[in-house]
Amino acid sequence: MTAMDGENEAPAKDMPVLEDSKDGENGGGDKAAVVRKSSGTSSPGTPEDKPVRPKNFKPLTADEEKLIRCSETGKIDEIRVLLKNKKLKVDCLDDSGTTPLEHACYKGNLELVELLLAAGANVNNNMQTQGYTPLMFAALAGKLDVVKTLLQHGARTSATNNIGKNAAQLSGFTNLHPVKLTYFIRSNPIMLEEAPKILRTMESIIEKEVKSREMNEIMAMKIHYYSEVLRHVRKMTTDGKSFDDIVKLFVRGRDSKGFPMYLEDFLRRSIRSFPYHQTPLHSTMVHAIAKANLGGASGSMGILEQSINGQHMPDRDAAPCDTCCDPAAKKKCSSCKMVSYCNEECQKMHWPVHKKECADLAVQFAHMEARKAEEAAVEAVREEEERKAEEARKALEAEATVAAEVAAEVDEGRLDNGAVVSVEDVGIGVRGEGQADDDGEESESAMLDATDETALLAGR
Ligand SMILES: [Zn+2]
Ligand SMILES: [Zn+2]
Repeated sequence: MTAMDGENEAPAKDMPVLEDSKDGENGGGDKAAVVRKSSGTSSPGTPEDKPVRPKNFKPLTADEEKLIRCSETGKIDEIRVLLKNKKLKVDCLDDSGTTPLEHACYKGNLELVELLLAAGANVNNNMQTQGYTPLMFAALAGKLDVVKTLLQHGARTSATNNIGKNAAQLSGFTNLHPVKLTYFIRSNPIMLEEAPKILRTMESIIEKEVKSREMNEIMAMKIHYYSEVLRHVRKMTTDGKSFDDIVKLFVRGRDSKGFPMYLEDFLRRSIRSFPYHQTPLHSTMVHAIAKANLGGASGSMGILEQSINGQHMPDRDAAPCDTCCDPAAKKKCSSCKMVSYCNEECQKMHWPVHKKECADLAVQFAHMEARKAEEAAVEAVREEEERKAEEARKALEAEATVAAEVAAEVDEGRLDNGAVVSVEDVGIGVRGEGQADDDGEESESAMLDATDETALLAGR
């Protein structure tokens, strides 16, 4: 039986406040991370990945730097003030060639997008180093209202990025989590009002995709899955459930081990009910589901994402929202710093689940930090030792050179006056790190043996 604890609402007072993810932490949703990932380059989030500013980019003024920062964080009032500066370039480029408008698009910040467009921002910026345009960022973020606004302002749909994808294809990097889709339906009430019509249209698209000569089973499966979510939300709301109730079931419907059974059941039913059983994709997915380890981290959600988004699946390292899987989750639980959320709404939905593990995760986080500090200390010691060894080696080399020079001179002297100069007479010891101790004893390897020394003296 599934243990539901979603019914008894958690008192919000014990819920920790959210804090911003710091740069460099795996603070999800960073646009650059998504772009890097989608272009198949190195993993996101590490400081080495910070783009180097191309030489042809003009240096930023202090105000332009501020404009870029504020467009990332959505500080619209500060931006209004900045825009009063007539010398400010509204299309200033950050190190990756991304404009303030593009940052706003990726954040789905419609108000800011409109403000920047009104200030003359270029709707078709093509300076982004990986070929992304404002429309592509809006599509990546899945922000329909922003996409519409950009199109009304003349955004070109045909532009492609450096991996040859246009905005429509990028919108295929979709967050498929039913919580995210439920939120989407909530903000587009027409989906429910027109549900019968939309569902019929979806069915005919699915049929067309499966039966056409160039069968697109991925698209068919994706639309089928969307239609299942829409049917589910429609049924629940018809039964008098609120959107919050629907989301809570997905997030909190857990078995005794904390596995999200409700979500898993829903996904399995949705995948199995795909009407075209003969398609290879469907059989592969059903087979994978049958074998999936219920205790595993991903379960059917992972199978669905992989089947539909393929290798373009958002990077797990990007710390997506723990409630809705949105890659743009920029907030962290301030108590444990181990879970990410889009906002307080997502945090609140997850709190009844998270509160059971927050303290343990905080301990884990402290351990991780301590281990990181320890590793850094060990690394510092190792570097210092290497540095010292290198210094000693150089000193030894220098001494050997001097010895060789002296030997050469002595050699000349011998040739001149015919006297034989012994090692002891020259009195040059070439010593390693273990110099003779104060009591006069020499440790092993302290002094090169006479043969070596003679060789050195001979100038070799
Ligand atoms: Zn979220
Ligand atoms: Zn926490």
